[in-house]
Amino acid sequence: MNNYTEIASTIPNHVTLVVVSKTKPNEEITPIYNAGQRIFGENKVQELCDKYESLPKDIEWHLIGHLQTNKVKYVVPFVALIHAVDSMKLLKEINKQAQKNNRVIACLLQFHIAQEESKFGLSIDEAHELLNREEYTKLKNIRIAGVMGMASFTENTYQVENEFRELKSYFEQLKSTFFQDSIYFKEISMGMSGDYELAIEHGSTMVRIGSKIFGGR
Ligand SMILES: *Cc1c(COP(=O)(O)O)cnc(C)c1O
Repeated sequence: MNNYTEIASTIPNHVTLVVVSKTKPNEEITPIYNAGQRIFGENKVQELCDKYESLPKDIEWHLIGHLQTNKVKYVVPFVALIHAVDSMKLLKEINKQAQKNNRVIACLLQFHIAQEESKFGLSIDEAHELLNREEYTKLKNIRIAGVMGMASFTENTYQVENEFRELKSYFEQLKSTFFQDSIYFKEISMGMSGDYELAIEHGSTMVRIGSKIFGGR
């Protein structure tokens, strides 16, 4: 038994629920699919590809974890959204593989907003630098659809709220500087099992929920 229906019913209509199915076998995913959910998120490329192969083809698969450039080619043929893009090198590889597949791939720019050390995620200055490069304007097979971030793992609500505010402000800043005319730049992917209600209060348009739906991992 899972908590899918209960949780899904609390998510407002303007917020997209990504059910994070990482580490969960198909037998646990299928009942949620049968209850109507079509958007699922995975953080590992191999697992994502295996599940894409074996589960219904109308699932919209999101890659929510870090993506290595050498693995881009495996996900580009089918992925609906890549949440964690944080370098020009990765964007260029996604663009190249997308071209080969005759697709345009939606991507979110990942920001490092948490206190914890992380190799992943851009600063706002790095994002400006990336989007200002001429190289970027040449990438016709990628589409930046918004921003993504993970708040600190802490009980300190004040801290988490500040981080969500920060990500929202990055979104607004990039929107007005680079994407004013883009109908695609609209997502703020923030909020997980422990903090999605707070994230929604602070403007999240997309929440990624795993353990609270499936039970602990
Ligand atoms: C695992 C994961 C989630 C979901 O985490 P839960 O706490 O289980 O809801 C969300 N986003 C990312 C990037 C993850 O890796």
